Amino acid sequence: MSRVFNFSAGPAALPEEVLKQAAAELVDWNGSGQSVMEMSHRGKEYMAIHAEAEADLRELMNIPANYKVLFLQGGASLQFEMIPINLLRGLGTADYVNTGEWSKKAIKAAKLFCDVNVVASSEDKNFNYVPKIAASKLNKKAAYLHICSNETIGGVEFQDFPDSGKVPLVADMSSNILSRPVDVSKFGLIYAGAQKNIGPAGLTIVIVRDDLIGKAEPTPPVMLDYKTHADNESMYNTPPTYGIYIAGLVFKWIKRLGGLAAMEQRNIEKANLLYDLFDQSSFYRNPVEKAYRSRMNVPFTLPNAELDDVFLKGAKERGMIQLKGHRSVGGMRASIYNAMPKEGVEALVAFMKEFEAKHG
Ligand SMILES: *Cc1c(COP(=O)(O)O)cnc(C)c1O
Repeated sequence: MSRVFNFSAGPAALPEEVLKQAAAELVDWNGSGQSVMEMSHRGKEYMAIHAEAEADLRELMNIPANYKVLFLQGGASLQFEMIPINLLRGLGTADYVNTGEWSKKAIKAAKLFCDVNVVASSEDKNFNYVPKIAASKLNKKAAYLHICSNETIGGVEFQDFPDSGKVPLVADMSSNILSRPVDVSKFGLIYAGAQKNIGPAGLTIVIVRDDLIGKAEPTPPVMLDYKTHADNESMYNTPPTYGIYIAGLVFKWIKRLGGLAAMEQRNIEKANLLYDLFDQSSFYRNPVEKAYRSRMNVPFTLPNAELDDVFLKGAKERGMIQLKGHRSVGGMRASIYNAMPKEGVEALVAFMKEFEAKHG
């Protein structure tokens, strides 16, 4: 068996150890004689898997007791709508920071439900930085302030978070959750689709402060109400059981490696391998201002687009796939989430040096 280094932005690589454990347990989980996929979500085996996944996530992220962890479906994209539906609480207006493609989608979705006040934007420089938010711009009566903590397409990451005062801070962490420690108590709500840094597609994690649940006005449809899922331990209807099980294995893998502080160290080392190369080379170019470079998604361009296919082909021959940049940006993008081993980034950097020597 030979595995490639998969630089996909999502669905993304999973830790090989996790896949192997899942494979070993696929047809008979823990002597139960059944696959996790086949278990009743109300049975004691699955309930234990579910509870343990939540407990491990709480431990990893140090989630305070007054926050609920919800295992939902519908992707981060459904949260673009569930957030205004649930958190507006009759207030009618919300603040958003616009740092790129995912922010824009969140803003567009929210506009169906409320007045959206874009309090800061980096659109003036093609989204290559995180804008400072002038305190005077923040609306004290906003229902919440929304940010995208890591723009997966642009490769721009918040290195610290805005102070929103009493207004709940809401973050789309789809592409950098679990990549570093964060102080959950600073947020009203954190959400993430699983398929970047957690597990398979089909699971969405929402971490939401108690007091923001059950205050929606008007009362939402049952399935779109956080209260429904919070009151039922994410088992109002059938949860994405297998995805939650795999996420649970990923949480245990992170714990074995030393938790989020250790993850952060690994991620800094990996990202620096690429950024150091850009800083030495005039061949490769990353458009992002240094202070806001993402540790997870690293876009870069070659001196001319005609080389792109040659580059991708050479990478593929060396067992490195999914390096093509997003269609809206062009060039290349290396997504190097938690599960990407350092050896994968080293192999990429070695190839990039070789490619530059040949074509530079
Ligand atoms: C991938 C992604 C999304 C969309 O996630 P879906 O699960 O496909 O809805 C939203 N926000 C960010 C930051 C993403 O990376």
